[in-house]
Amino acid sequence: MNLQNLLILGATGTIGINTLDVVARHPDRFQVHGLVAGRNIELLFAQACVHRPKVLIICDSNALNQWHASGLNAKLREQIGYIPEIGGEDALASLCQSEQIDTVVAAIVGSAGLKPTLSALQAGKRVLLANKESLVLAGRFMIQASLSSGATILPVDSEHNAIYQCLPANYDLSRAAEFGIERLVLTASGGPFRNKSVAELSQVSPAQAIAHPNWVMGRKISVDSATMANKGLELIEALWLFGLPAGQLSVLVHPQSIVHSLVEYKDGSMLAQLGCPDMRTPIAHVLGLPDRIESGSPRLNLAALGKLDFEEPDLSRFPMLKLAFDVLAKPDTMAPVFNAANEMAVDLFLNEKIAYMDIVKLTQMSLSRFASTCVANLDDAFELDREVRAFAVECAKKC
Ligand code: MG
Repeated sequence: MNLQNLLILGATGTIGINTLDVVARHPDRFQVHGLVAGRNIELLFAQACVHRPKVLIICDSNALNQWHASGLNAKLREQIGYIPEIGGEDALASLCQSEQIDTVVAAIVGSAGLKPTLSALQAGKRVLLANKESLVLAGRFMIQASLSSGATILPVDSEHNAIYQCLPANYDLSRAAEFGIERLVLTASGGPFRNKSVAELSQVSPAQAIAHPNWVMGRKISVDSATMANKGLELIEALWLFGLPAGQLSVLVHPQSIVHSLVEYKDGSMLAQLGCPDMRTPIAHVLGLPDRIESGSPRLNLAALGKLDFEEPDLSRFPMLKLAFDVLAKPDTMAPVFNAANEMAVDLFLNEKIAYMDIVKLTQMSLSRFASTCVANLDDAFELDREVRAFAVECAKKC
């Protein structure tokens, strides 16, 4: 079997760690060519000892200096017998296009993940996409790049991966209308506040918002899950990934997070993908394609589970989801605004500068303010992103 050469962007984050867990189970299939991290050099060092990459990139310049100052190169040579090539963020774009790499795992969190992901797509790589922001901020440019280079985008996010698994194997987003699809149904756990009233929601603290019932996640995405802004971002991702119009996208609350999403067809069939909430399942799916490979995730015991619950999302209690549905009508402009405003608002909330319900207020104000902005290229999208962030900070002072 030919070894698949991997570059992992965001190696020390949750997706990166889970990816390496799956990779370690299949030394006959995968070779880790490069690991890219932000600032967690302790974990990066440990990962390098196990996976023996040829290249390490440390994006944070202080962390890169610290790596050199701590003599980690010499320690690594002691451990693995050689020193990998070490670089900073400036080396990232060309590394993503290196001929020595087959597959790029795009798992850098936030808008920092966009440029390297786009580089990989332009070079025609197989991209395992876990970075939401790249599609939200620049979906049209990402899809165009992949169509013109022949790159493959394989979704890692559990919902989009589930939909991907339920679509026909020959699905082609540029002919999306031809496959007899009625609608895509993204499931949502409803987060920790699924049953809270509007009055209770106004009193929510950061600590409450980051305690998710089913998934272990970072702080930002935990708050996004609580407000359902995360599901909103996923709707935008689905719009770009699958090429279906907004009217064919829907959200269904499913508290157990066992059914990861569904596809409804015109003949009345609904196909779903089920599994324990463990990111190693979607990661193993896209790593192994077209084969199915062991992921290490626990098996689902439906009899022990007994039942699965579903309900319509209440848009009055989850106004971020309502805003996201509105965004789908004009995604090139409104999606970057939604994303940037939400990101700033969540940060302000986590730092106790604004209240929980102000996240909606700031996002709503930003969407109104920038509704008529035109986004014709990637630079426009970045400029808009910057302007929205500055605007949101100004608005927050009035909250
Ligand atoms: Mg998800």
